[in-house]
Amino acid sequence: MESHQPLPTAVEALARLQQGNERFVQGRARFPTVQKEILAELAKGQRPYATILGCSDSRVPPELVFDASFGELFVIRVAGNVLGPAILGTLQYAGAHLKTPLFVVLGHEGCGAVEAAIGTHFHAAQHRSRIELLLEQITPALAGLDVSQPPETLLQQAVEANVRHTVASLRATPEAQAREQEGLMQLVGAVYELQTGRVRFLAPDAQSA
Ligand SMILES: [Zn+2]
Repeated sequence: MESHQPLPTAVEALARLQQGNERFVQGRARFPTVQKEILAELAKGQRPYATILGCSDSRVPPELVFDASFGELFVIRVAGNVLGPAILGTLQYAGAHLKTPLFVVLGHEGCGAVEAAIGTHFHAAQHRSRIELLLEQITPALAGLDVSQPPETLLQQAVEANVRHTVASLRATPEAQAREQEGLMQLVGAVYELQTGRVRFLAPDAQSA
């Protein structure tokens, strides 16, 4: 791996993720195994080109979805791709020390955490206490959604709203603002489609909800 070369720009990093997801969708993924030489090189240190905040859902493994190998992605997975102290600390590490040029908040269709938050927010559903704490991170994203829609449509909109909410919360931090303004990093939202395997990157104007 190119541990001594400069990191790609955010635009190049995003193109890499999109090309990797295209190979994955087309069934042309590059990495059936990892060669010993790559492991030996990675033992010297990591230089991931993107940080991914995704969901713990077993159907959305970021490295496979983006056809990315060991050492390429710095990944945080938490149910509902929400924020919290430990996650913000991990993201801060990615920004300050790894300096990944691209940060992706990756939601996915059919997210159980978002579905549970819909239940809590609109139907007063009850959950165990620690799950409630998790869902509290999602419910602010649901304000303004039309609960009279078919449940499938509501969930689809809620998944995207939750990604936008997380992106907006991150973008609101002084650190992210400074790094984005200096062109040191880009922050994008995306939604993974369960059936097609495709990652749909959200348009920039749709991210600042
Ligand atoms: Zn999920």
